[in-house]
Amino acid sequence: MDGSAVAREILARVGERTMAFRNRTGKKPCLAAVLVGDDPASVTYVRMKANRSRKLGLDSREVVLPARTSTRELVDVIGGLSGDPDVHGILLQHPVPSHIDERAAFEAIAPHKDVDGVTMHSFGAMSFGLPGFVSCTPGGILRLLDAYEVDLRGMNAVVVGRSPILGKPAGMLLLARDATVTFCHSRTADLASVIATADVVVAAVGQPELVRGTWLKPGAVVLDAGYNPGNVGDVAFAEAAERASLITPVPGGVGPMTIAVLLDQTVDAAYAQAGLRP
Ligand code: NAP
Repeated sequence: MDGSAVAREILARVGERTMAFRNRTGKKPCLAAVLVGDDPASVTYVRMKANRSRKLGLDSREVVLPARTSTRELVDVIGGLSGDPDVHGILLQHPVPSHIDERAAFEAIAPHKDVDGVTMHSFGAMSFGLPGFVSCTPGGILRLLDAYEVDLRGMNAVVVGRSPILGKPAGMLLLARDATVTFCHSRTADLASVIATADVVVAAVGQPELVRGTWLKPGAVVLDAGYNPGNVGDVAFAEAAERASLITPVPGGVGPMTIAVLLDQTVDAAYAQAGLRP
């Protein structure tokens, strides 16, 4: 599955909607990205998101805070952005340094600006099938499946990983499409045998090539959200490609879809806050 190509289509539409918003309001949709510390991978992600935003005509605000920032200080900064009428969407780059209460910081994002879909409000709304912003990587996975016309009804879907912003919401979105969902995690007794039952596998672990090709049911659809040093995913791609009917590469699969959903939801937020129909 070519995530770069599908993301390009979504972003082309984001660019058009951004221009229309600017013409109607005289303002640019604005995404504020908050980065705490100087982790090189996080710096790169934030820069990529900012560059892409500007290319498409959005405004991008980067707030870089020192690694020693306290939870209280971070919550105050995010609270300020939540109340700033010129900011439509807020992204807190994950992970934050370990002394910070990341959940408290996420919850300081106003739900109507939670374009990264990380708050309890967004997770609850998504799980209940109510309007709101979805977590971007799971949202990107679903849009990729839609682009390839994968009908999830009745399929066995196995999600490896249960983090609040990736594994869990991916499972809830698959469930909402009538897949039968199983979550696996670090205590799963026999990962290979669970994966052998899967028509759809979502790998969201952070362990290079954990999922082996020989574990897959022939014809399985494989989405690899993993992004490990050296551009390696959580799935052993070459082996898995021999068994899978559809598979995402790393890079060029789930990653570009995540950014596309983030910017799409930022434009949605801008329209909603201006009281306009998207
Ligand atoms: P995370 O918070 O570290 O969660 C990892 C999950 O994997 C946990 O639920 C953990 O289980 C599970 N796990 C760890 N070892 C396992 C094993 N041996 N077998 C089965 N499950 C295992 O990570 P995350 O934030 O969800 O990210 C996961 C991966 O996705 C990373 O590679 C990250 O870089 C990538 N990612 C990509 C994007 C993108 O845009 N493509 C966005 C976000 C993240 P426990 O719960 O039991 O600990």
